[in-house]
Amino acid sequence: MAAEIRTFPCLNDNFGHLIHDADTLATASIDAPEAGPIVAALEREGWTLTDILITHHHGDHVGGVAELKQKYGCRVVAPHDKTTKIANADLRVANGDVVKVGGLLARVLETPGHTLDHVSYVFDGEKALFAADTLFSIGCGRVFEGTYPMMWDSLLKLRALPDDFRLYCGHEYTASNVKFALTVEPDNAALQARADEVSRLRAANKPTIPSLLGEEKKANVFLRADDAVVAQKLHMQGASAEEVFRELRERKNKS
Ligand code: ZN
Ligand code: FE
Repeated sequence: MAAEIRTFPCLNDNFGHLIHDADTLATASIDAPEAGPIVAALEREGWTLTDILITHHHGDHVGGVAELKQKYGCRVVAPHDKTTKIANADLRVANGDVVKVGGLLARVLETPGHTLDHVSYVFDGEKALFAADTLFSIGCGRVFEGTYPMMWDSLLKLRALPDDFRLYCGHEYTASNVKFALTVEPDNAALQARADEVSRLRAANKPTIPSLLGEEKKANVFLRADDAVVAQKLHMQGASAEEVFRELRERKNKS
């Protein structure tokens, strides 16, 4: 049986994500912004939490871990970087590790930049990418702890995944990302199509994710810092992808 995935709002603009294996009844929460909405989603489905897969140490991704672990006795999987203080971790994972959620397999990709410890979880069998605050729909995370070249490299790792994978990210920032992206590429048809879709979804109070990675590759300007068209829009012809990426991210910071 196929895995089931549920996405729902947490805190102000975070997403909660549950992935459930109907064969083994295992259920993982990707991050735990806060316990309440995650417990509510589990109870709605009649699922029991077996694992929490943490992407990075920020409070809006780990705030619910202690309460959920207390309630369900679930296993807590956290990034390798022990210098970041993630409490209650049972298993530390690094690049290339594979985590089992019942019969489902999550491949760990280190995607530093937003934080140094940031990892993304790739469920190849389910064609699902949980990228938290590295890659957003039509955007990317702020570069807090890492460097711009490091973050660009992380985005390249995610861009290398197949087009038919779905992107599940950490925040509902899509409308703001679209607004910014249109200032750089007003004539990008894929972006215009996404802008219409996002307006429709937000008007209906629906989440804008998941999105298809293939669509992100066309519409997300942050995944195209090595595209001459983007460099030209920024009057940076001949600049490196890292330089174009930095310029994009810094403009977004100020927008
Ligand atoms: Zn974060
Ligand atoms: Fe976050």
